[in-house]
Amino acid sequence: MNQITHAPLDHTVSNETAAPQTTGAAKPFNEDQRLAALHRYQVLDTIAEQAYDDVTTLASAVCKAPIALISLIDQGRQWFKSRVGLDASETPRELAFCAHAILQPDIVFEVQDAHLDPRFASNPLVTGDPGIRFYAGAPLVTADGLPIGTVCVIDREPRALSAAERKALQSLARQVVAQLELRQVMAGLELESMTDPLTSLWNRRSLDRRLQAAWDLQARERSPLSLLMIDLDHFKRINDALGHPAGDRVLVQAAAIIRDQIGHDGIAARFGGEEFCVVLPGMDAETARERAEQVRRAIEGASWPAPNVTASIGVATAVVDRESSPNVMLTRADRALYVAKREGRNCVRQFDGWS
Ligand code: GH3
Ligand code: MG
Ligand code: MG
Repeated sequence: MNQITHAPLDHTVSNETAAPQTTGAAKPFNEDQRLAALHRYQVLDTIAEQAYDDVTTLASAVCKAPIALISLIDQGRQWFKSRVGLDASETPRELAFCAHAILQPDIVFEVQDAHLDPRFASNPLVTGDPGIRFYAGAPLVTADGLPIGTVCVIDREPRALSAAERKALQSLARQVVAQLELRQVMAGLELESMTDPLTSLWNRRSLDRRLQAAWDLQARERSPLSLLMIDLDHFKRINDALGHPAGDRVLVQAAAIIRDQIGHDGIAARFGGEEFCVVLPGMDAETARERAEQVRRAIEGASWPAPNVTASIGVATAVVDRESSPNVMLTRADRALYVAKREGRNCVRQFDGWS
């Protein structure tokens, strides 16, 4: 069965011996939109999942076929989200029966005997492993009418589907699309529940999770971990002088500056109100202080809709001791922030004990 992934090689060899060539299906007229829709589902190359495996199990049983697949037609390949009776996880697109099936999204594409069909008679999947004779594929059609793949059944004997089997295959195809849609909505909701709607930074809930994850890694690898607590100075005055919407614009801009300054080195979150928190996995105290200073200067030097926008920053770096925990880190960074406020604002202070 694994031979199927080597089909292009076999195919090249057969070309040299002047065997008839498999040219593959034409591209659908809406190929770009179709691919964009497929890629939006973020399903390609994901692991096997029961919900999809149930569909191929049912397709195989209902149609009494030894092979059943959920095939997604990517740019140059067909990739199988689920498969029964086949080891290969993908084949080149030019060999794919399913690439023909998606050209007619409304009907089940059926090839009763591939040996007798000039489009498929010399296809290596017909002449070699897995020895396809019969194929039936129901297109997976998105709500926008874009065919992204099929649920298909394959047999090694010539045959036909009954009307009831054809209908069942189409129902299963609709179930697969419903599943894909559901997962996309759920992923969107999850992201929404993790981000702050005003600034698009991570929110407090996801900060807690990410800090815990970074902390666990730090504990395992004994690497440093630093935390910045950033609070805008006299922010209430901005609201009072220019109004809440102007205050909001300052928060959005401050978030963008922090995100830019931190880049991929850390996780920036809105802690609440006009307070931001940055987790810096693997960063030692000295580097974290320099980075905090850089953020402070960027905020001080930016052009704002309000006068004198500055920030105070508290820095804490993890030390492995008995009382340490992500919460203790937050409290230490908050303490350092308190000292920065007390010592005049628009400055960076590092936690150096409680006294
Ligand atoms: P300090 O330098 O001591 O931090 O002074 P501050 O004025 O920045 O701090 P304070 O805690 O007194 O006030 C914070 C203000 O932030 C009060 C609150 O109305 C405002 N705020 C909190 N969330 C938002 C928001 O989402 N939008 C706007 N515009 N203002 C907010
Ligand atoms: Mg403040
Ligand atoms: Mg505050």
